[in-house]
Amino acid sequence: MKINTITIGRAFAAALILFLSKPALGGEADAREKCASLSTLSTPTFRVDTAEWVAAGRLPAGPFGETAEAPSHCLFRVVLDPRESGMEEMSYGTGIELRMPLDWNGRMLFQGGGGLDGVLIPAFGSVSGFPSALARGFAVVSTDGGHRGRNNVDARFAVDQQAKLDFAYQAVARTTREAKALIGRYYGRKPEYSYFMGCSTGGREAMMAAQRLPLEFDGVVAGNPSFNLTQVAVNQIWSLQAVARIAPRDETGKPLLFEAFTDAQLQAVAAGVLGQCDALDGLADGIIHDYQACRFDPASLRCGTAPCLSTPQIEALKDIHGGTRNSRGESLYGSTPYDTGIGLPAWRAMHLGTRDNPPANASLGRDTLRLFSMTPADPELDPLRFDFDRDIAATAETAAINDAVATLHTSFAGHGGKMIVYHGLSDQAMWAGALTRWYERLTPRDGQGPQSWARLFLVPGMTHCGGGQSTDRFDMLSAIQEWVEQGRAPDRVVASGKAFPGVTRPLCPYPKVARFDGGDEDDEKSFSCR
Ligand code: CA
Repeated sequence: MKINTITIGRAFAAALILFLSKPALGGEADAREKCASLSTLSTPTFRVDTAEWVAAGRLPAGPFGETAEAPSHCLFRVVLDPRESGMEEMSYGTGIELRMPLDWNGRMLFQGGGGLDGVLIPAFGSVSGFPSALARGFAVVSTDGGHRGRNNVDARFAVDQQAKLDFAYQAVARTTREAKALIGRYYGRKPEYSYFMGCSTGGREAMMAAQRLPLEFDGVVAGNPSFNLTQVAVNQIWSLQAVARIAPRDETGKPLLFEAFTDAQLQAVAAGVLGQCDALDGLADGIIHDYQACRFDPASLRCGTAPCLSTPQIEALKDIHGGTRNSRGESLYGSTPYDTGIGLPAWRAMHLGTRDNPPANASLGRDTLRLFSMTPADPELDPLRFDFDRDIAATAETAAINDAVATLHTSFAGHGGKMIVYHGLSDQAMWAGALTRWYERLTPRDGQGPQSWARLFLVPGMTHCGGGQSTDRFDMLSAIQEWVEQGRAPDRVVASGKAFPGVTRPLCPYPKVARFDGGDEDDEKSFSCR
């Protein structure tokens, strides 16, 4: 056997790498001991609630009874600056959950929250259809956004100045700082790479991380972001008024919102959109990839055919899809394309509700507007009387602290930060047009467009953060990691979904859309991004 200098050199390099990357934890016994010792950090302003070892297994992983496989890890929970609120089932202070696996990959993932936060969601870093970040070896951290309420749609926290600031951005900032310090203390070194990934409010928090903590994160993934939440709430009221104008009235004159459209009418709209626009991408497959070419007009369903829409119903659909406007006709938010999601229960639950449940626009949307978006809060505000000329100004103060609408990212992009934003085109709550408008305003860098550091993927058919007639399973965590660590920008992301068994489709970076080139209709390779 020939031993040459190259072999020796390689062996030396391998030994050096092994030495340098030697885990700071000396095996499981040491890891358990270090984990338990984190409880000694507890003080009145840094209240440690949990510092315990969790054995590998299937564990509760979400707010709705979800479970997921997890490796052995240290579970740490702390509340920063805990305070009483004076209200039942509401307390203040930034709650943090940090899960640190025994076999650490040297990376941190901040998992964003949802709704109005207020609950501490298990820090797994779930990726639909793929192993979680925790299972991949990330240390994963989450926060309750600075308050703990009845649930994640409890807006009462917003009357408190600090709690409001925490939800807007300070909980993300403090959690980032504390998580990095705790990871450094536990493993003996800080994370080599730090990522942020979240959807909805978690998506807003991801964008906020890039905008207000531009040096802290190497990569962020923002899904269906409520990035301009104050205007999302206003737009919900815009839609609510459009529905209320056409709804039948009860004997007291109150609009019966749930009767404004029948399910058959909404499904006829979805079928009409598909009929006109599905094949524009080259293949009638139940997915409208080329939504930009789609010119669907609900007036094509005007009565005379069956099922049909009345003229007021056609106007209401146009108002809803067009988004908030003032009396001069100026768009204050953005529009959403006609897509298949309008025929699904999620759309009804948001805009119409049922006999027993009001639409979310009239509950979450109303409460967010009254208590959070408006300064001062106006708990008695009648959302049907909100004026889109006069009352918009009252949202400016909250927007300034809360809305992640910045277009200047020189420090974030300058240190190599990368951002992936994705959004479902059938999102029933947040309009894609608001997001594309922001994306097109991003400040170019080095003469290149934002594509060099930020990419936007619009997912046809996908409702809010997943679901719908869509390919809603895709691994954006791997995509952002490859972009950050290997310099491979995502030119397409492969997606699948249980709505279309055995089918894959590419997601394309905006403004490109997927078009069918011919070949196997189930295979994403038969499509190109154009
Ligand atoms: Ca199609």
